[in-house]
Amino acid sequence: MQPMPEDWDRAVAVVAHPDDLEYGVAAAVARWTGQGKQVTYLLATRGEAGIAGLPPDQVGPLRMEEERRSAEAVGVTAVEFLDHQDGLVEYGVPLRRDLATAFRRLRPEVVITTSFDLTWGDEGPVNHADHRAVGLAVLDACRDAANEWVFPEAGPPTSSIRDAYVATAGNPTHFVDVTATIDAGIASLREHTAYLDGLGRDFDPDEFLRNLAGYIGLGAGCEYAIAFHRYPMG
Ligand SMILES: [Zn+2]
Repeated sequence: MQPMPEDWDRAVAVVAHPDDLEYGVAAAVARWTGQGKQVTYLLATRGEAGIAGLPPDQVGPLRMEEERRSAEAVGVTAVEFLDHQDGLVEYGVPLRRDLATAFRRLRPEVVITTSFDLTWGDEGPVNHADHRAVGLAVLDACRDAANEWVFPEAGPPTSSIRDAYVATAGNPTHFVDVTATIDAGIASLREHTAYLDGLGRDFDPDEFLRNLAGYIGLGAGCEYAIAFHRYPMG
């Protein structure tokens, strides 16, 4: 793994649900916003199907608010939600169009998302269908955004995107040293109070993130790190 290059100014981080970025990526986001970079969060859904026993019309607004507070904890004020249905996000042209439209408007140099592998690790549980759909669509929408003949109604094309980085994927190529920002990352995850309470089991954000980032740090040569797989777009 190499250190992730930091010679860029604008990133968009795209995930399916409120809380997806807070399981590690947010600690890296805190480092970037601390350097004065602009990071926008783009959520495919409002996470309305994420809490057992609570109906979607109550959960959606609650989780949007939790995501905004999570973002604030790591210096992000721009949080946007697309209106795909939580649990039923489909990989396809409508999702690619929504993502490409956002990329053309925001003109990021770097796009961040999380794993779209079928499973978490070789023998781990199956990754959520929404994560698989969104991760793959993000990579394709980076290219769509640059093609003037694809989605011509979605604004002027942009070839601003240099690289997409996928967090928690197998075979990481790059790492971000989050030793100085792990606390902000933990604070960010803690903001998902309703969601974490809804899990119905003990979960300690501090312990979880320090274990995850500490393990990656062993391979990266620092105390805490977050790993990414880079897909060059140039
Ligand atoms: Zn998720």
